[in-house]
Amino acid sequence: MAVPQNKVSKSRRNMRRAHDGLTAANPNECSNCGELKRPHHVCPSCGHYDGREVVALAAGVDLDDDAA
Ligand SMILES: [Zn+2]
Repeated sequence: MAVPQNKVSKSRRNMRRAHDGLTAANPNECSNCGELKRPHHVCPSCGHYDGREVVALAAGVDLDDDAA
């Protein structure tokens, strides 16, 4: 197994991790329902995109009821 030849100092380790931070998401407001949604994605709460419904949400479907 490969073993590091030298100890990585706290400073060097932290410098390596300086680029590991996550950038915050950039949510947009849905033009239909006003919920925050990801840009260029279908709204997860109402199923609309570009002013029209593209995904019919299964809000009233009971999965336990209609087996097979
Ligand atoms: Zn929406």
